[in-house]
Amino acid sequence: MTEPGFGVYVHWPFCAAKCPYCDFNSHVRRAEIDQDRYLAAFRREIAHMAALAPGRTVGSIFFGGGTPSLMKPETVGGVLDAINEAWAVDPGVEVTLEANPTSVEAERFRGYRAAGVNRVSLGVQALNAADLAALGRLHTVDEALEAVRLAVSIFPRASFDLIYARPNQTPEAWRAELAGALAHAPEHLSLYQLTIEEGTAFHALYAAGKLKTPDEETSRALWDVTQEVTERAGMPAYEISNHARAGAESRHNLVYWRYGEYAGVGPGAHGRLVVDGVRRELATERNPELWAAAVEADGHGVVVDEALSAEAQADEFLVMGLRLAEGIDLARFHRLSGRRLDARRIDDLMMDGMVERVGRDRLRVTRAGFPVLDAVVADLAG
Ligand code: SF4
Repeated sequence: MTEPGFGVYVHWPFCAAKCPYCDFNSHVRRAEIDQDRYLAAFRREIAHMAALAPGRTVGSIFFGGGTPSLMKPETVGGVLDAINEAWAVDPGVEVTLEANPTSVEAERFRGYRAAGVNRVSLGVQALNAADLAALGRLHTVDEALEAVRLAVSIFPRASFDLIYARPNQTPEAWRAELAGALAHAPEHLSLYQLTIEEGTAFHALYAAGKLKTPDEETSRALWDVTQEVTERAGMPAYEISNHARAGAESRHNLVYWRYGEYAGVGPGAHGRLVVDGVRRELATERNPELWAAAVEADGHGVVVDEALSAEAQADEFLVMGLRLAEGIDLARFHRLSGRRLDARRIDDLMMDGMVERVGRDRLRVTRAGFPVLDAVVADLAG
């Protein structure tokens, strides 16, 4: 795939509470958020990105966070208006909003749909009460399932996330929970293994020996159950953690994984834009208030803006593209890096059953290779 398209990522940085496993750029504020102020800042930063990368056609828009379902529908609508003013927008544009499945947030679903959102991604995370509490989630199982039902009835497309490899989780329990999830599953599921990230509450517990995650063998068994159950249900992985019915893949995330071009707006958002023929890495100020003040002063909150070398682009292309079941286009790697992947390394990995060729021009990771993807990528990039 050589035409991954152009997407816009919008970061809403606020949450009602901080989940103990979360290392995203999310912030809890006691005072009410001045959404008009943030909308005005989003408008200005969108105009800035369009000045850097004019003339694009937007194929996907993604509201991530944080918790974008804390945005008022009018705020979401205002951001979409600004994107429409800044660029041409494909008539079939995918507009996704991440939502937490509390009943309060579900009440806003119709407003988001009216504003132009056509896909919702719900952070369900677990379908049993004890694990929802342990993960610090603010919704119940019933609330989550009701939000899924409502989302499916309102939005043309919907997805939900679950976290597995949770403390004490057995493959048998996960098999049953996943089967239950699939009974409610819309067209797309994101299934992430719990990882303990530095700086989180879980990390502190883990370091103190008060939190245990499944050992390597159990993690592998949980992974195998995930693939087996979803494949049988017609929702195989199209990316290492994402499963969809054919044609229901997240177009926005495919822009990242196919190494396309995207603008990131809002606090702590990342972008990759081709400016004057050079692919650039952009990132904005992470702190929401500092970001808003920077935009008010300068028209943008960009704090990183660097040209990517050919080698850096090639590395990013490998890291992103090998996550996909479709794999990578070897000719594009050559165009980006000016060199070819080492044929001997490819052959060795093929002998080990970690990668396979698809036709002459594509290389992809096998089912056996995905659980050790980082090592496979490091080997190929070497
Ligand atoms: S709701 Fe999402 S972004 Fe917010 S703290 Fe929890 S995991 Fe992080």
